[in-house]
Amino acid sequence: MIIIELSKRQQRIIEIVKENEPITSEHIASLLEVTRATLRPDLAILTMSGILDARPKVGYFYSGKSEVNILSKEVKAIKVCDIMSVPVVVSEETSVYDAIVSMFLEDVGTIFVTSKGYLSGVVSRKDFLKSSIGGIDINKVPVGMIMTRKPNIVTISKDANAYTAAIKIIEHEVDSLPVVEKHIAEGKEHMKVVGRVTKSNITKLLVELCKE
Ligand code: ADP
Repeated sequence: MIIIELSKRQQRIIEIVKENEPITSEHIASLLEVTRATLRPDLAILTMSGILDARPKVGYFYSGKSEVNILSKEVKAIKVCDIMSVPVVVSEETSVYDAIVSMFLEDVGTIFVTSKGYLSGVVSRKDFLKSSIGGIDINKVPVGMIMTRKPNIVTISKDANAYTAAIKIIEHEVDSLPVVEKHIAEGKEHMKVVGRVTKSNITKLLVELCKE
């Protein structure tokens, strides 16, 4: 993965070009009080990365492609399968009590629920709180009774990119998405849970990209 970390001088060149475009390399060099030869590698990096545009006999323009665009390209190049975690899955018949225990033991905020091995629902911390406040017998009631059920589940495929996952998490105001593979069984489409992508995965990715 290539992340472009701009030097102070490269950032200064961008500012100069923004303010004076079109501007020749001689002019940039004189403003920075360096030789054109010194500037050559910086200008090469800035034009190759698409931040500046060079037009022969005219000079340099700011192309409008910011460093943020470069970061967004990187994020879009990363697939969900590169950042996802192992999913925590229970079957619909599991009691609410046992599902809460799994949530604690596995240290997750969301549990995916399956019926006959395929995704049927999602249950979060708040769902458990609500059901406990509601006074149900958590030892008897199955998790299938309190979960958010298909088709209202927001999912993602492992080949989707990290940006799409982040957008879905934000737009649907959820903490995590089940990563699913579609299976056809008995003429029906089912979803097999193969991972989970969470707000933490996205935050970790951002930290990694900034570190590099
Ligand atoms: P919490 O509110 O417990 O912090 P969430 O914000 O993830 O956790 O969950 C809010 C609600 O959305 C819960 O009722 C939960 O069942 C549901 N939910 C969580 N994840 C999904 C998802 N991927 N698709 C659909 N509903 C979800």
